[in-house]
Amino acid sequence: MASTSTPVAHNALPPPAVSSAGRSSRIAPHSHIKGLGLTPEGLATTDGAGFVGQTTAREACGVIVDLIKSRKFSGRALLLAGAPGTGKTALALAVAQELGAKVPFCPMVGSEVYSAEVKKTEVLAEAFRRAIGLRIKETKEVYEGEITELTPAEAENPLSGYGKTVSHVVVGLKTVKGTKQLRLDPTIYEAILKEKVVVGDVIYIEANTGAVKRVGRSDAYASSFDLESETYVPLPKGDVHKRKELVQDVTLGDLDSANARPQGGQDIMSVMGSLVKSGRTEVTDKLRREVNKIVKGYVDQGVAEVVPGVVFIDEVHMLDIECFTYLNALLESPMAPTVIFATNRGNSLVRGTSDIVSPHGIPVDLLDRCMIVKTEGYTREQVGKVVHLRAIVEGLKLGPGVLDKLAAEGEKTSLRYALQLLTPASILAGLAGRMQIEVEDIGEMNELFLDAKTSAAVIGEGSNFL
Ligand code: ATP
Repeated sequence: MASTSTPVAHNALPPPAVSSAGRSSRIAPHSHIKGLGLTPEGLATTDGAGFVGQTTAREACGVIVDLIKSRKFSGRALLLAGAPGTGKTALALAVAQELGAKVPFCPMVGSEVYSAEVKKTEVLAEAFRRAIGLRIKETKEVYEGEITELTPAEAENPLSGYGKTVSHVVVGLKTVKGTKQLRLDPTIYEAILKEKVVVGDVIYIEANTGAVKRVGRSDAYASSFDLESETYVPLPKGDVHKRKELVQDVTLGDLDSANARPQGGQDIMSVMGSLVKSGRTEVTDKLRREVNKIVKGYVDQGVAEVVPGVVFIDEVHMLDIECFTYLNALLESPMAPTVIFATNRGNSLVRGTSDIVSPHGIPVDLLDRCMIVKTEGYTREQVGKVVHLRAIVEGLKLGPGVLDKLAAEGEKTSLRYALQLLTPASILAGLAGRMQIEVEDIGEMNELFLDAKTSAAVIGEGSNFL
């Protein structure tokens, strides 16, 4: 299947865990999280895999991972309950990471279902489809060659190219629309895959060894990433064409949308996009069933493998009774991904009803299927550790006393507030011509911005604003 006889211009790079820039940017704040950080016995190590504290929740999630792996979690869901910024999203992502390197992670927020154009149940169905991966084995022509010097044009664009010794490359990967292809030495390509690079990641390639290191993010680039435009990575010199067995990861959601809007072409998504001769422009249940049937055929032939992923619904209390009923049905389906909900609400009215009050605003029949894990708040020391991790990942230098100051702020307000001060403070430091953030930058940010509790208290005083 899908082997191309004509030479392909580039190597196709498989998609990231999620396939749109929006979803990637939702994961970016968690790039320091590499898993649950558990011992083989399932005990949480101190500050393991980028996770600080939250030991009980991490261990509970480890049990869930074991249940999923032994296929004993179907028909059920995990519910993470805890205050804002206590790591619920980070835990859900870590569960997906523990399930395997290329397991799709599809995060959404409950309120996303309320769109003027798309039915609520469609939004949920699509998220579920995007959380089911398909690993396709393909024979392709690939390039092998040496890394070249930057051309002057490439050197002008800091987001492109790589040089003999040092380079920063923003790697374009798959988005909903199709595959952004790269021209890369296959060993580097492998290394990039291992690094789990996603759209907008800035990577460093050591030219002599081909070692790849993730050095930061370019979120502006990620959100402005234009699939249709040029390739950002130059073709290495001295290329040799070789036929290679490549593995391509797509999701059922990708296949649905590719088949709803088929395009001509030789690349994998074009080929996969003409599986169903539908001529439709919408993803319908019928089209999904047809895609399923063909996918099943490929699985039976051994050319493709289904990789169930994780769908994460944050602020699940924002869903309404219609969505909850539909979720019950989705959970029952044989192709369901792992479902993780998160909420910071206690007893709430179930949306869409006038009188049903239930824990977390979730109807009891769905709640019955959930295993509930609670997340705890953080101590000053723990806030400091997370801030320190983020500063490293974001490449920010902290001057003396800055970590203590941020840890104290985080303890007083929230971890997220402390983390949010980091980037603007670094801009302030840059404006003042400094390489590192100083305590005064944090102080100034604190004057410019309010944390949630202070803001609520000030509004409460009322007259200050009138
Ligand atoms: P909300 O309820 O507002 O959605 P949340 O509970 O999902 O919040 P996260 O978004 O996971 O919280 O956490 C906020 C930030 O703090 C993220 O950058 C996350 O990676 C980081 N973080 C939270 N808890 C931990 C932890 N225990 N160790 C390391 N990083 C953490």
